[in-house]
Amino acid sequence: MRRPMIAGNWKMNKTPAETKALIEDLKAIENRSGAEVVVCPMTVSLFAAAEALKGSEIKLGAQNVHFADKGAYTGECNAASLKELGVEYVIIGHSERRQYFGETDLTVNQRTLKALEAGLKPIVCVGESLEQKQQGITNEIVCLQTKVALLGVTAEQLKDLVIAYEPVWAIGTGLTATPEDANNTIRAIRGAVEEVFGAEAAQSLRILYGGSMNDKNAHDLMAQSDVDGGLIGGASLVAEKFAGVINFN
Ligand code: PEP
Repeated sequence: MRRPMIAGNWKMNKTPAETKALIEDLKAIENRSGAEVVVCPMTVSLFAAAEALKGSEIKLGAQNVHFADKGAYTGECNAASLKELGVEYVIIGHSERRQYFGETDLTVNQRTLKALEAGLKPIVCVGESLEQKQQGITNEIVCLQTKVALLGVTAEQLKDLVIAYEPVWAIGTGLTATPEDANNTIRAIRGAVEEVFGAEAAQSLRILYGGSMNDKNAHDLMAQSDVDGGLIGGASLVAEKFAGVINFN
């Protein structure tokens, strides 16, 4: 049985003070779905978030982690610091990192391995561009991204990992994959994981959908057999909307 996960990616929004305020609002929400709830603030807001989340069931995630332990990587953040702050999850390979910051399948793999080594749980993002969708190669793209991201990951480590299928054309655009399309692509990703790790491991792996998921469409997306949760951008910045996603049922 895969426990649903609803994770909020706050991107470059919410100062430390705003982070604290939003978390106070989120703590007041009744979680009726039983989903694991995660919030991923900016790096600079993680400390404030960790303080505000004390005693709460809501988990803390980061938006990136570097693949080196430490050193001359100006502007980056290492896994040890995230652990020290109480971070549990880390988003890796978000399409905005791939698009604007030169992230590749290979660096996604490096970051994934480092996160796991440090005891962080990666939320690895994969997804096709609009052009790739139009060419009909969505499954090939996301399966390749998945397999490269997981190179060198052990079966034991896979238990701590989550994949987020995020069609690039759906992120922040208001366009959403149909529930059926999202489910079919996620099934393809699960199939790729099965090829490497076997059926049992693939069936235990949580695979989220992300891309303009909100309080209005979460129910239909979550009703699909293979959609195990959501990675939510815009709708996670407003407590009432995020509450609607958390309580998707
Ligand atoms: C995201 O950034 O991961 C995302 C899914 O954004 P949005 O929900 O705004 O499309």
